Amino acid sequence: MSLRVSEVCERLLSCCRTCPFVHRKPGSDGSDGPDGSVVIPNKHAQTETPGPRALPGLPAPPRARVYTALWDYSARTAEDLSFGAGDQLEVLDQSSPDWWFARALTGQFARREGYIPANYVAPLESLHAERWYFPDTKRMDAEKLLQAEGNQHGSFLIRECESQPGELSLSVLDLGVVKHYKIKRLDNGHYFVSRRREFTTLQELVNYYGTTEDGLCVRLTHPCRKAIAPQTHGLSYNTADQWEIPRSSICLLRRLGAGQFGEVYEGLWNSTTSVAVKTLRPGNMDSQDFLREAQIMKKLRHPKLIQLYAVCSVGEPIYIITELMTHGSLLEYLQKDKGEFVAMCDQVEMGAQVAAGMAYLELQNYIHRDLAARNVLVGENNICKVADFGLARVFKAEGDGDYELDDDDERVYEVKQGTKLPVKWTAPEALHENKFTIKSDVWSFGILLYEIVTFGQTPYPTLTNAQVMQRLRANYRMQCPANCPKRIYDIMMECWKDSPVDRPTFETLQWKLEEFYDVDINAYDDTRNY
Ligand code: ATP
Repeated sequence: MSLRVSEVCERLLSCCRTCPFVHRKPGSDGSDGPDGSVVIPNKHAQTETPGPRALPGLPAPPRARVYTALWDYSARTAEDLSFGAGDQLEVLDQSSPDWWFARALTGQFARREGYIPANYVAPLESLHAERWYFPDTKRMDAEKLLQAEGNQHGSFLIRECESQPGELSLSVLDLGVVKHYKIKRLDNGHYFVSRRREFTTLQELVNYYGTTEDGLCVRLTHPCRKAIAPQTHGLSYNTADQWEIPRSSICLLRRLGAGQFGEVYEGLWNSTTSVAVKTLRPGNMDSQDFLREAQIMKKLRHPKLIQLYAVCSVGEPIYIITELMTHGSLLEYLQKDKGEFVAMCDQVEMGAQVAAGMAYLELQNYIHRDLAARNVLVGENNICKVADFGLARVFKAEGDGDYELDDDDERVYEVKQGTKLPVKWTAPEALHENKFTIKSDVWSFGILLYEIVTFGQTPYPTLTNAQVMQRLRANYRMQCPANCPKRIYDIMMECWKDSPVDRPTFETLQWKLEEFYDVDINAYDDTRNY
């Protein structure tokens, strides 16, 4: 029997009603955490790179020369090397952080040489090369991964434990439900799940429980299927630094949509790689301004941010080349779904993903300025990534800078002082005093949460932009939407605090949403589970 993720989450939700929550203390915003809370370091700066890293308490592994490929990779340029998952590669030059020069030792491409994306390989025979090792995987993500298609009874993974950094957990799929076991370490470095039996390595532990259940709910059968390969850092070795690319290397395939900046197309780079191409309407942006901003945007890398790959800024229109997201904008995605497949637990997770991307921007002291569901993009498995960060700053409004209000509710952006503002998403101090800070982004995040729980309803549905401005001055806030859990509405209201300093940080928003469905560690009947 296999359960849909949403069904499992519904079960967890009903379980939550009777269980105390596991709480964590907020980080930097200084608000009080519940009694007995635990401080957990924020992991939001993590990248998708599975490179060698020491297990807690162990020295960093030496730099290896021979690596194992974790995913298939198809060469995108003549300088690249193709390889298949499991192939062995000898790395000859690691001077660039993201693209290494390597020779294939095994597999279909053996003896060929070329550049490889560094985040697609792990040192041979290292823990990171094991198909069942999923570092940086949260408990909730482990459940989603194991419940995805292709896994079966006994599929498993080992991950670092979120609630106790440095500890490891074994997550196993048992008749559609994921169980989690703590893997403990002894002073002598040995591992165990049950004190009855110790192992010198995790590999030994996995091999043993692959032959017998010996107290586990099920014998370990197959490593959990790895999700989609990570984004490479940049399109190729050459574009990592040289990111102005010739317009002729881009072929526009089909129009995906249009926004205030211009049109967006699905495109093919170098006849090999699918990308999204944002074309900037001429006259809307000073190209020097844009290029300065793009230099910064390119350095912002996080799994929950859309990656800027390259630009074509010679001639018009300017092209911005980014990663392609299969399901387009979160706004359209939710409006189309209307609750058919997306359940409340998915919505909470979407909010958590956006908060994670924004927490990274917060850490980088970068302000988005236009956070809204239309600027979040959705990929496979409900993966959400924040897009269009920083673009609003360099966007020139058509207009003379006078404040214009339009009673047409459909119009999102209003012209004010040479910029266009999405009134219903913009914090009062940004609207009235042009004060954009990460805290005005937090206000917008509250509105985005409203969009998420209402499946893409326009905020303040009965009010015009002008009325919203007027009401906000009188401290008006939107009511709790139908079917919205009170705790989610409470988060929205926190984001809409009048004084920016009273609003939470994105770091806090991230953990609040990530742990929304956390259950007490004793929720399962097996006391060794947690
Ligand atoms: P605005 O620019 O006014 O904020 P918007 O974000 O909807 O509005 P665009 O960013 O220009 O406008 O995007 C238009 C549409 O193109 C989106 O709604 C989305 O469906 C699609 N799109 C944009 N970027 C991508 C991408 N990287 N991958 C897939 N689809 C995309």
